[in-house]
Amino acid sequence: MTLALVPGSFDPVTNGHLDIIQRAVELFDEVRVVVARNSSKTPLFTVEERLEMLREVCAPLARVSVDSFEGLLVNYALECGATVIVKGLRFVSDFEYELQMALMNRRLNSAIETVFLPTSAPYSDLSSSIVKEIARLGGSVEGLVPEIVQQRLREKYTIQST
Ligand code: ADP
Repeated sequence: MTLALVPGSFDPVTNGHLDIIQRAVELFDEVRVVVARNSSKTPLFTVEERLEMLREVCAPLARVSVDSFEGLLVNYALECGATVIVKGLRFVSDFEYELQMALMNRRLNSAIETVFLPTSAPYSDLSSSIVKEIARLGGSVEGLVPEIVQQRLREKYTIQST
């Protein structure tokens, strides 16, 4: 049984993330989407809010679970028996960063392999930051994020602007 982790900040989860998660399920027996608690990015949504949205959108997907982790991802992987880390790649800049992370994770634990999946064409320019920027400026994020995330973004920015 191979358990693969799909880590990220998911602030919030986008259709690009979901595409990677769905493709990871085709490749591995079980997939766990994990939210990094100690990311250096300043988030819009709390970890709990991000987990709630992820749980809702991943609920229809068989063999997919959702969790969060603190500290090193390789330590979390060891604790739960995961042997694969799945990362999506969009731009060359993703590759530079992700390759460095993959090499460091391999140095920390050579039993855990990182697998890169290239983005699907419709999502190649999609990121959580872009989605937040569009929503903040009042634009439509339909088709970029699941319905529940559209609602949560509307709520966040309505509260912030009142
Ligand atoms: P973001 O970079 O959008 O803030 P995360 O930090 O949550 O996203 O990213 C988690 C993982 O998901 C990273 O490996 C990132 O490359 C991947 N990812 C994010 N958006 C996409 C997308 N549109 N297509 C492919 N991979 C993606």
